[in-house]
Amino acid sequence: MTVYRFDVISLAPEAFSSFKELGVVGRAFSSGIAELHVHNPREFAYDNYRKVDDQPYGGGAGMVLKPEPFFAAFDSVPFSLKRRVLLMSPQGQTLSQEKLWRWSEEYKQLVLICGHYEGFDERIRTIADEEVSIGDVVLTGGELPAMTVVNGVVRLLPGTVGDPQSLIEESHSDILLEHPHYTRPAKFRGMEVPSVLRSGNHQAISKWRQDQRELRTKYRRPDLYDRWLSKKSSDT
Ligand code: SAM
Repeated sequence: MTVYRFDVISLAPEAFSSFKELGVVGRAFSSGIAELHVHNPREFAYDNYRKVDDQPYGGGAGMVLKPEPFFAAFDSVPFSLKRRVLLMSPQGQTLSQEKLWRWSEEYKQLVLICGHYEGFDERIRTIADEEVSIGDVVLTGGELPAMTVVNGVVRLLPGTVGDPQSLIEESHSDILLEHPHYTRPAKFRGMEVPSVLRSGNHQAISKWRQDQRELRTKYRRPDLYDRWLSKKSSDT
């Protein structure tokens, strides 16, 4: 089995220390399913002050990330044939479960470039194969978006999650949201577990779950529901 490799280019490498060790994702790293390497562009800055940012040409607020340290950090990353380079940016395509599946299946190395301040000198963008946004929000740096991508990909790698079936039956795996879950006790503060789930009738349980998935999606995410309806009609 080839180990999946993540190379993060970040001015805040310490942000990844506990992330690398925690929970399911931490176990995937410690058991050798994946590796995470962080490269700090500041270590590649050549002037005495290790300067990684500068004022924008044309004036304006904020500092812009200089190209030289980012290109040098990127050039230091080992190259693999199945590699994808992602630049974290609120201007990118919105992250989706479909993208996470694609990156987990088609590649063996992801390079994730994190910005700060006003963002990247435009030339840094030429390194990337894709720009990725975690939503229509602006954060101070690309570290949380990069961790989101690494977490989302790692859990899809074979061996990370105990029962791979759970990855197929969850929200966004086939457009619809997941059905509700219950566990013991059957009654809690006046709220009762639907009787069908306690009936032992697997066919009835399966139908109830599918109905709930459709209802949930219709009311919570009408955009997804419409997508699901049109996929369903094109499949038939
Ligand atoms: N001035 C930039 C703009 O308006 O597009 C925003 C820069 S933001 C303050 C600093 C960095 O945080 C970005 O370069 C990017 O790496 C990261 N970032 C912020 N919001 C993000 C988002 N929604 N998705 C991915 N990365 C984001």
